[in-house]
Amino acid sequence: MKRIILVLLALLLALSPCALCEEDDGGEGAINLIEEQDSFANAGSLSLSEPFTPDDLEKTILIGDDRVTVKKTKQYPYSAIANITGKFSCGCPTQSTGFMVTRNTLLTAAHCLVCQKHNKWAKKLTFYFGYKSNKNYLYRYKSHWEAYVGTLFPNGYTSENDWAYVVFDKDVGDKTGWFGMRNLSDSELESGTFTVAGYRDKKLKYDVGGLRVMDSDRMWVDMDVLPGNSGSPIYDSDNYAVGIWTTYYDNANSGFRINSKMLDKLRAEGLL
Ligand SMILES: [Zn+2]
Repeated sequence: MKRIILVLLALLLALSPCALCEEDDGGEGAINLIEEQDSFANAGSLSLSEPFTPDDLEKTILIGDDRVTVKKTKQYPYSAIANITGKFSCGCPTQSTGFMVTRNTLLTAAHCLVCQKHNKWAKKLTFYFGYKSNKNYLYRYKSHWEAYVGTLFPNGYTSENDWAYVVFDKDVGDKTGWFGMRNLSDSELESGTFTVAGYRDKKLKYDVGGLRVMDSDRMWVDMDVLPGNSGSPIYDSDNYAVGIWTTYYDNANSGFRINSKMLDKLRAEGLL
């Protein structure tokens, strides 16, 4: 009799898997490795995609001098920045930033989607746009997503190829707006002033500063304290993204450049 009860119990659990699993708090997706990543030395000043502001969103014009907390997170371009929360398949939590660059495509850092410690990828993610709290936001995406990462960090973390894009099933950008993308030349990159904005501790913060070239893929970000988390957009005053902020170092920070490698890849996939 005891055995029958155990068998019945096992059957019951097998039939209702969510009796034991953790709370389902995000959309499931898949991770793919981006291949063919040759370096491109000749980044030029081609404007290859245009930013978009939905008609019903107010636009933020003011750019301050210091690290500032954004109060109007639902205004463009902040509306196009996502507070990403969720879990890796190893169980480790992830909280990061990403930003829309087309109607259905978000850019972020690869390590936001891959647990470098356990070499496991993101499993369930929720993307909050215009985030104030889990109940107050402009738009929330928690359906299926498909991610493409520059690296799976097989030998631990490196800032090389630390970029990723996520494709949504819905045209999220129609609600949130999106950033344009520019691949700047080395001199354009070093002569401009740029904004970094991202979510940290559930708040959206931004800072303004300069950039320096590291190589054709990467740049140093000259800001003493970075405002947001990995995956934050680095953009110009016309709301064109020029990079993705990726890495903290002891005395410097770095990001991944929007370059022809990235743009060619997005175009080849029909996303641009
Ligand atoms: Zn992990």
